Amino acid sequence: MVRSRRGFYSENGKRQILVVDDETINRELLTMMLQEDYDVLTAADGNEALAIAHTHAQTLSLILLDLFMPGLHGLQVLRMLQENSETAGIPAVVVTADQKAEVDSLMMGAADFIPKPYPQREVVLARVLHTIELYEDRHLIQSTERDPLTGLYTKEYFFRYATEYDHHHPEEETDAIVVNVNHFRMINERYGRAYGDDVLRRIGQKVREIVHHNGGIVCRREGDAFLIYCPALNDYQTILENAVVGLSGEEGNRDRVRLRMGIYRHADHSIDIERRFDCAQMAADQLRNSFGNAVGYYDSKLHETELYNEQLLEDFNTALQKRQFHVYYQPKFDVRPEKPVLASAEALVRWEHPVLGMISPAVFIPLFESNGLITRLDHYVWREAVAQIADWKRRFGRTIPVSVNVSRIDTYDPSMIDYLCAVMKEYDLPTEDLLLEITESAYTQDSQRIVSVAERLRELGFRVEMDDFGSGYSSLNMITTLSFDALKLDMYFVRNVFRERNNIRMLEIIVDIARYLNVLIIAEGVETEEQMKILREKGCDIVQGYYFSKPLPADKFERFLTEKGDC
Ligand code: C2E
Ligand code: MG
Ligand code: MG
Repeated sequence: MVRSRRGFYSENGKRQILVVDDETINRELLTMMLQEDYDVLTAADGNEALAIAHTHAQTLSLILLDLFMPGLHGLQVLRMLQENSETAGIPAVVVTADQKAEVDSLMMGAADFIPKPYPQREVVLARVLHTIELYEDRHLIQSTERDPLTGLYTKEYFFRYATEYDHHHPEEETDAIVVNVNHFRMINERYGRAYGDDVLRRIGQKVREIVHHNGGIVCRREGDAFLIYCPALNDYQTILENAVVGLSGEEGNRDRVRLRMGIYRHADHSIDIERRFDCAQMAADQLRNSFGNAVGYYDSKLHETELYNEQLLEDFNTALQKRQFHVYYQPKFDVRPEKPVLASAEALVRWEHPVLGMISPAVFIPLFESNGLITRLDHYVWREAVAQIADWKRRFGRTIPVSVNVSRIDTYDPSMIDYLCAVMKEYDLPTEDLLLEITESAYTQDSQRIVSVAERLRELGFRVEMDDFGSGYSSLNMITTLSFDALKLDMYFVRNVFRERNNIRMLEIIVDIARYLNVLIIAEGVETEEQMKILREKGCDIVQGYYFSKPLPADKFERFLTEKGDC
């Protein structure tokens, strides 16, 4: 609960104090001392005190609490005040004749103590005012220390406190942990921001419980990123499994929210604190596409990957200039006729690095996507592919349509469609010769923008294929509203089809959906004749995979076609 500053004053403009004592004479004495400066409320026992504290939680500035009372003991009252989030922020000053009890009360969270018999009025007033001002200042600081949504620390305070923590515990082994929500953007998009906020609040509560049990501190860095800094723990998998219980809200939504946890264990204290959390974040990012609740650790391998990635980024410009990126082509065959015929080819990029050798796009595409370089690379690949279509058309007198991959990031570029049109015009080709593969996860993550880009492209005559279908999270409801010409089944989905009988049924259902939507079905990653035959029998239209050919450089691709008698 956030107490507003105005709330520290009662209606008559004075700060409000609650005096708790079972003896009337003591209540009267203290009231007399305080009433000129304060609005004084009184309670004769613990229960009455708790009730008043509760109803006046917004306005009470201080509680003066006697310890020895019939019924609830003062220390019990103190504990109950602290356990209740409404009253936990109200400072309590213990009034006692028992000097030994002073230590106990301070340990229990009492702000200060006043001895009995009471000292002079001035002394009592000074102590009371001092405590109140201390708490008000602290409260003011706290309101900037806290993230308003979850009540956790903000990252600035968190990093400062974490540094201080190291200072006081230099020998302690500590872990830096990042907790993220899988597909949080999609949760927001599908179920609304209010639900998303609820989920974040609940996670805030859960991570707070984790550090409550184990020690440490916690904050929300931004969005769905929670940071924990704590003494080294074991069995994070169990901690995560416990944290996830009840996160989704009502029972029916049980598995909606999944978490991933990246851990930099036994963090090196000589590394800057923020950097340590970058390492933990890297470990969490590795788990981005894993299913379920997952825990990952930062290790030396990850560190090497990081260095390797830095080199790739550094070399990108030179590579583009020196034409180190090569476009390979993999045929897609129409398997509806008895003898499969070439339908098109997919353009797939490779990087022939002068020092690191041949690099797979699976390595550098995600990297370039994470910092926007992908758009420059894709423009390059698209132009190469279009030039290739034109070249084949001129030399073989026939069109071999080519599909290129479009990254979700490319669609942020407002000139993307103009660029494509300009390239087609430059090579004097109709738009229908170029096919665009947009991955399913792009549709689900950015559905509105992608849908409008896909619609516009199709209006202009380009054909759009939804790539990697079955790896993302489109719902049946969603798929009927999206705009595309072909569904391209994800390789792993295809592989699963052959693993278990039940999955064949799944394939049949998807083929039915494609028929209903009047779009083609493409299967990729097909490696054997048996797979090809089953897919054809079940209604797949087009097949791509090593069974026909691996992706090949343009000259080898031409040779392949000539040998097959396709050119
Ligand atoms: P994708 O678009 O789903 O491409 C299919 C991937 O499956 C390609 O991997 C291809 O070589 C591989 N593949 C095809 N048939 C088989 C098979 O029978 N068995 C096996 N094991 N693999 C097969 P590649 O070339 O490594 O590309 C990986 C991903 O990188 C692509 O997945 C695509 O998402 C991305 N990518 C490739 N080139 C580009 C590009 O120019 N731009 C963008 N934005 N992404 C690209
Ligand atoms: Mg593709
Ligand atoms: Mg694919």
